[in-house]
Amino acid sequence: MSTKSEDQPIICGAKTRSGALCQNPPELGRRRCRIHGGAKGSGAPQGNKNAWKHGFYSAEAIARRRDARRLVKESRELMSMMNQISGISA
Ligand SMILES: [Zn+2]
Repeated sequence: MSTKSEDQPIICGAKTRSGALCQNPPELGRRRCRIHGGAKGSGAPQGNKNAWKHGFYSAEAIARRRDARRLVKESRELMSMMNQISGISA
């Protein structure tokens, strides 16, 4: 299970032949620049229907889990915020 963020990085970050990280901005909605696999039309189709087994990795199921995770995170933040507020006033 990956804990990597779904957010788009600022730079491509692919390792170039000189060993440095690629400083190009990623393509829109991609994690890599256009010369490092981020080009439009490259890669597997979204949600990869070709290898459908049980739907656990379907785009919809992944999005649902992501939303659920965010909800848990946000309510946790809200709870700690409320605890802080009540701690100050007590
Ligand atoms: Zn790149």
